[in-house]
Amino acid sequence: MIIQFVKNISASSKESILQMVKAQEYKTTEVLTQQGHYLICIGKKEFDLRTLGHMPGIADIHRVSDDYKLVSRKWKVNRSQIDLGDGVVIGEGSLSIMAGPCSIETEQQVEGTLTHLQANGVRIMRGGVFKPRSSPYAFRGLGVEGLKMWYQLARAKGIKIVTEVMQVSQIAEMYDYVDVFQVGARNTQNYNLLDELGKVDKPVMIKRGISGTIEELLYSAEYVFSGGNEKLLLCERGIRTYEKASRNTLDINAIPILKEKTHLPVIADPSHGIGIREFVEPVALASVMAGADGIIYETHQQPEKAASDGQQTLDFEESARLINRLQKAYALVQSF
Ligand code: PEP
Ligand code: MN
Repeated sequence: MIIQFVKNISASSKESILQMVKAQEYKTTEVLTQQGHYLICIGKKEFDLRTLGHMPGIADIHRVSDDYKLVSRKWKVNRSQIDLGDGVVIGEGSLSIMAGPCSIETEQQVEGTLTHLQANGVRIMRGGVFKPRSSPYAFRGLGVEGLKMWYQLARAKGIKIVTEVMQVSQIAEMYDYVDVFQVGARNTQNYNLLDELGKVDKPVMIKRGISGTIEELLYSAEYVFSGGNEKLLLCERGIRTYEKASRNTLDINAIPILKEKTHLPVIADPSHGIGIREFVEPVALASVMAGADGIIYETHQQPEKAASDGQQTLDFEESARLINRLQKAYALVQSF
């Protein structure tokens, strides 16, 4: 059960509500986010919500049978939208396209990518400055200095930035230069990081863990939400299966399932999802048909020279074609 308190609830109203709920043998957790004030109540006893509903201080109350609560659609039926400012809104009503290299490499590379995105009407650029690499000897990113350079160039073109944060200490140094913090697949269950991102007033996109279930992804989102930050996106990026013909197995099923279970926008990452350049497009289009609110993919002026993930990276010609086809696919889904 979730109780939403009215804004500025009085201490005495809150105390009366807590007493009533505890009398029903429910455990309570108070959650104060940047948008709302909630009481999460966990218990088994059946009782009539109307006994609480009339109490002063309660704005809304619902039974939520899912174990994750605030991210559940049983709590919020209307889908959430994430506003990045300057007319860039992610979620219901539009398809968000986020594209860019796996790694930020040079000023020239960033300029070229921004020009390509701008020419094709894309408002959000992806790129990594802190790269989680399987080998410690591989390129691990330009760090915050690279992010600052990218930010200067992107702001001049009105393009937003989504980039991965790998550890708690990076949040503060990245904060001023990031529009969406990405939690990578290797960090989906880094609960310290999720707790800290709950305190941040910028959107967070959480990728599904490499071997993570849909439910685990929703719990990770619940961490950030209950930590105080409601501005959340979920990303299906493929999971590890026994299949060796592709890098990962993008779980198309997860898209409609997540859309049914949560009010948060669902993004698909076909680049990591399949890991093979020539198949990124069909998987991206399939994700749109399955109901994704956005697509994030890798593109580079010379994929064969990319510092990371070149094998799954589109060149700008392929990227422009994909953008065009994504828009057509989205219009088709909307027309159904
Ligand atoms: C990336 O986006 O480049 C990345 C490393 O993604 P993931 O965490 O999904 O592997
Ligand atoms: Mn990558």
